[in-house]
Amino acid sequence: MDLYEYQGKQYFARFGVPVSPGEAVDTVEDALGAAERLGYPVVVKAQVRVGGRGKAGGVRLAADAAATRAAAEAILGLDIKGHVVRRLWVERATDIAAEYYASFTLDRTNKTHLCMVSAEGGVEIEQVAAENPEAIARLAIDPLDGLDLEAARALASRAQIPTAALDGVAQVLVDLYRCYEQGDADLVEVNPLVLTPDGRVHALDAKVTLDDSAAFRHPEWEPWRDLESLEPRERLARERGLQYVGLDGDVGIIANGAGLAMSTCDVVEQVGGKPANFLDIGGGASADVMASALEVITTDEKVRAILVNVFGGITRCDEVARGIVQALGRVHITAPIVVRLDGTNAEEARAILAEHASETLQALPTMLEAARRASELAKEAR
Ligand code: GDP
Ligand code: MN
Repeated sequence: MDLYEYQGKQYFARFGVPVSPGEAVDTVEDALGAAERLGYPVVVKAQVRVGGRGKAGGVRLAADAAATRAAAEAILGLDIKGHVVRRLWVERATDIAAEYYASFTLDRTNKTHLCMVSAEGGVEIEQVAAENPEAIARLAIDPLDGLDLEAARALASRAQIPTAALDGVAQVLVDLYRCYEQGDADLVEVNPLVLTPDGRVHALDAKVTLDDSAAFRHPEWEPWRDLESLEPRERLARERGLQYVGLDGDVGIIANGAGLAMSTCDVVEQVGGKPANFLDIGGGASADVMASALEVITTDEKVRAILVNVFGGITRCDEVARGIVQALGRVHITAPIVVRLDGTNAEEARAILAEHASETLQALPTMLEAARRASELAKEAR
């Protein structure tokens, strides 16, 4: 899960990483109220999950109420690389003496954490990497060793951070590492990390990607789960605990396991069909899960046929078949359903489906045949 800047800064603050005081607002009036409370000058910043907001006009300094109003009016509704701004972060403006860069991320190849620091912050790091790669100092961090002040200071020094800022930068790096490590983030990036004229170092921007696999031990992440920005269908799927990704074809796909769901999409493509979605119902496929899956898929008007592809290992095919039959009694479905079940108790499952076979429900023995039939049915219905 990617956080907005203001959420990232709230997360930083929990781990002692210094950030400017600010308020998240959704209207021009609230932006004014926030600015009055914070004191001028303020910075008005677009909250979108994409970088380069400054260049796109999404970050503006405002010295008084009139300028704050103008900035908020200009930024709300602005389209930044396809992301429309609905929320602003108003923060007290900072005087900047120098702009640096710092990040922590996972180095999968090296099987370590990776810290990158540069004295050339404020510009896109990709640009620095391309034009002046030696300006980025890197440090591989063994998760068992962690990062101490001494190592952080040495890294900052290698990155050409001036002596006056070394202690401040090192402290931020150590706190930022705790945020990344204990905070279960896959990425924390600060660009710019600034030095103020009075010698303080603090984070002026925040990019944080949380590791969704760790969500179970972070109830405090719940309010950040941004269901609002999901497509209604994706939101419904998420609420039902299903892994759903919308695609633009017309064959709805339900499979158990992400691997099988992906293979099913591939096979449908191979036989000339177009998958309408990827949907993994996971292990076990009770009537409830099946009903939820069918419900999610049938809210997609593009779907002309549904392919259910289940391989029973621990999952028993006869239960899946009963699930489908029961689900059909609960959810109104007009698109024909083609089912392929194989594995544990497949014979019983086929018998159950045969009893309920109709125009809208048919079973075929192989994935290829089922994919072909579903794709044909979808084409006929176009
Ligand atoms: P990004 O363009 O999406 O990365 O947004 P940033 O939050 O990094 O802001 C872009 C630029 O705006 C920064 O690099 C700063 O130069 C400038 N900026 C942001 N906040 C302040 C501030 O408090 N004071 C000043 N003077 N400039 C700021
Ligand atoms: Mn930035």
